[in-house]
Amino acid sequence: MSRLNSVIRRLQAQRDCLNAAAEMIKDQDGIVLEVGLGNGRTFDHLREIMPDREIFVFDRQIAAHPKCIPDDDHLFLGDIFETLPKAVERFKGKVALVHSDVGTGDEALNAKIASFIGSTLPPALIKGAIVASDQKIDVPGTIAEPLPEGVPKDRYFFRRYQ
Ligand code: SAM
Repeated sequence: MSRLNSVIRRLQAQRDCLNAAAEMIKDQDGIVLEVGLGNGRTFDHLREIMPDREIFVFDRQIAAHPKCIPDDDHLFLGDIFETLPKAVERFKGKVALVHSDVGTGDEALNAKIASFIGSTLPPALIKGAIVASDQKIDVPGTIAEPLPEGVPKDRYFFRRYQ
C-alpha cells in the first residue's frame, strides 16, 4: 500500500473511532478530555461532533493550527505527568470521554505514558465513560469495547468504565 493510502486509512480509522466514541456516550452527561492536542485535528473534530460538550485539552506545547487552540480555561499546558493528576482531582467523577493520542516513536516511553494514564484516570471517570486511545491503556475498572467496523485490531483501543 502506498504511504498516501496508509495515511488516509489511519486518519479514516481515527475519525471512525472518534465518531463511534461520541455515539457511545451520547446518553451520558460529562466532559471530554483530549490528551495530546498536537496540531489540533482531533480536538477540532471532537468539538464539531460534540458541540455541547466541554472539552479540556492537554499538551506540553502549543503547536496547533491557530483555529484549533482551546481557550486558556480549557487548556492544561505542560507535561501530563504533572497536569493529568491535577485535572483528575478537579474533575472527579465528571469525565464521560477521554481521547488519548500521545503516542511517540519511542515504545518504552509510550508504555510508560500508557501506564501512567491508565493508573491516574479512574477517579475522574463516570460509570460508562469511554477511554479511546492510540496506545493500549489498561485502565483499572474498565473492559475492552469493540472497535468500529473496518478499523484494524490494535489501530485504536476502546475501554469502558464499569
Ligand atoms: N491528536 C493530535 C491531532 O490530531 O492533531 C495529535 C497529537 S500528537 C500525535 C501527540 C501530542 O502529544 C504532541 O503534541 C506532544 O507534544 C504531546 N505529548 C506527548 N507526550 C506528552 C507529555 N508527556 N505531556 C504532554 N504532552 C505530550
